[in-house]
Amino acid sequence: MQGIARDMRVAEERAERSEDESVRDADVIVVGGGPVGLMLAAELRLADVRPLVLERQPRLEDAPPNANGLGGQVIELLRYRGLLDRFTAAATAASPPPIYPFGGVHLDLTDLADPPLRGLQLQHPSVDRLLDERAVELGAEVRRGHRVVAIDQDDAVVAVDVEGPDGRYRLTAAYLVGCDGAYSRIREMAGIAFPGVTYPEVNRLAELTVPESVTVLDDGALDVPGVGRVDAGYTRTEHGVFAMGMLASGVLMIQTIEEERAGYDHEAPVTVEDLGESIRRVLGFAIPLGVPRRLSRYQHHARQADRYRAGRVLLAGDAAHVLPATGVARSVGMLDAVNLAWKLAAAVQGSAPDGLLDSYHAERHFAGARALLQTQAQVALRRGDDDAADALREVFRELLTDEQPQHRLAAMIAGADIRYPVASPGAGRSTGAKPAASDAGRRPTDDRHPLAGAFAPAPLLRAVRGSTGVAESMRAARPILLVLGDHPELREVAQRWWHHVDTYCAEVDDRPADALLIRPDAHVAWAAALDEAPEVAERGLRDALGEWFGAP
Ligand SMILES: Cc1cc2nc3c(=O)[nH]c(=O)nc-3n(C[C@H](O)[C@H](O)[C@H](O)COP(=O)(O)OP(=O)(O)OC[C@H]3O[C@@H](n4cnc5c(N)ncnc54)[C@H](O)[C@@H]3O)c2cc1C
Repeated sequence: MQGIARDMRVAEERAERSEDESVRDADVIVVGGGPVGLMLAAELRLADVRPLVLERQPRLEDAPPNANGLGGQVIELLRYRGLLDRFTAAATAASPPPIYPFGGVHLDLTDLADPPLRGLQLQHPSVDRLLDERAVELGAEVRRGHRVVAIDQDDAVVAVDVEGPDGRYRLTAAYLVGCDGAYSRIREMAGIAFPGVTYPEVNRLAELTVPESVTVLDDGALDVPGVGRVDAGYTRTEHGVFAMGMLASGVLMIQTIEEERAGYDHEAPVTVEDLGESIRRVLGFAIPLGVPRRLSRYQHHARQADRYRAGRVLLAGDAAHVLPATGVARSVGMLDAVNLAWKLAAAVQGSAPDGLLDSYHAERHFAGARALLQTQAQVALRRGDDDAADALREVFRELLTDEQPQHRLAAMIAGADIRYPVASPGAGRSTGAKPAASDAGRRPTDDRHPLAGAFAPAPLLRAVRGSTGVAESMRAARPILLVLGDHPELREVAQRWWHHVDTYCAEVDDRPADALLIRPDAHVAWAAALDEAPEVAERGLRDALGEWFGAP
């Protein structure tokens, strides 16, 4: 009955919106069809919003072969959406408990019972392909070979000029999200600053077949005609680093690292010749190279946009933050998308309470700063080459043999320990200020329940997902009120928001709270303490529902 009434209400809302929709081409234009743009498109569809993804590359395979891993808290989110099985099925290896190279110091989580950091190995472009499939099956339009070249906005709409296969054209939407990567033009055109540092080392990374003219020796070294033996492993010269190893598939992996203060054109494709010249500069001689399976060139940056929003233009993913260590960058970006989608949907549909869209900056800028904190610490660990740096690494190695620091650091890398600092959207207005590293390290010290602002505890979610209804609400990105204690009055309060929130009662061992209000992004908006007085719980829930989901 509730479902039918809700569908009718949705139909009414659609009719009300159709007037606006007829004058714009999409609700939200997403610039960039990388993992973050595609994740955003899928999440927007779940919230019944019309996204249009514009991607400059004509084919999915043309994306730079950057990442082959997906790790961090997004894994829990994929589980929550019922998507984890798809990703696990596409993984190239069963995921063992991770050993994470934290700035060159091994963080070995093999002995942890429930490690907060998990990862999947996926070959390029599997992640993008799975996300593309998902966005398209939910009804998102993805236009490949369409490059956004200009943007313009006023109080009512945002417009973009696009260069497509048939020439230049213009589109309008209510909002635009720049998911266009580290060198974002959208960020630049929106006038958003991107402070931070770019480290001078340029990395070139390749997977190549072994050329016929060389012989692979038993210890993995190469015998190169006219040169002799070239060792596997790391070779450091005064010009940089050369690293080489044989993958299980018989493919040769080669990496060079050189300081190039002049920089390079990041849009120019990297070639085997470019890699060959780099090897010659580092080692002082050339080696024959086979056919490349993967070729990339990158620099590490530690930068963060000082605002994630400028009017109707928002940023997510690498456009908003670039981290100087790999492993969880996609997770951070995809979780930006998940945080943003339901807020944008409420703004488009006219139901957003005051400050909701600005809470995106407050929450995800904080999360990005936390990610920068742990990745910049890795830079300090891996770059130092004096005795003091050796001592720092040794101290870390020692600390990381104990379970408690292993757990704490793993949670920090994964982003599993993020607790958003805003108690309500009204408190989340964008200040435009970049928090200092010390702010990013500081934990909220307000009087909220300790779970408020945090990701809903994964073990609890796994326990209650046994109920079909809960699992369906999670998959559909619907907010959930989970009543775990004896509080019939909370169901009555939530009844007034039935259009927005699904209510479930559950019994679990060791309940962490009497009730949890869980947002579509799986973060807890509000929680009732154990054995909370009914009138206190009732007021708390009513306030939280109004603040996060608007008028009943
Ligand atoms: C060598 C390397 C290895 C990495 N390994 C990992 C890893 O193992 N795990 C991990 O989590 N992360 C890894 N990363 C980081 C990861 O690749 C990025 O964090 C992630 O790709 C960011 O996703 P995104 O969607 O924000 O941006 P991108 O993936 O950069 O996508 C942006 C998209 O926008 C498009 N675009 C740009 N401008 C326009 C325009 N004007 N109009 C239309 N389209 C446009 C681009 O073509 C591109 O497809 C690695 C990075 C590198 C360089």
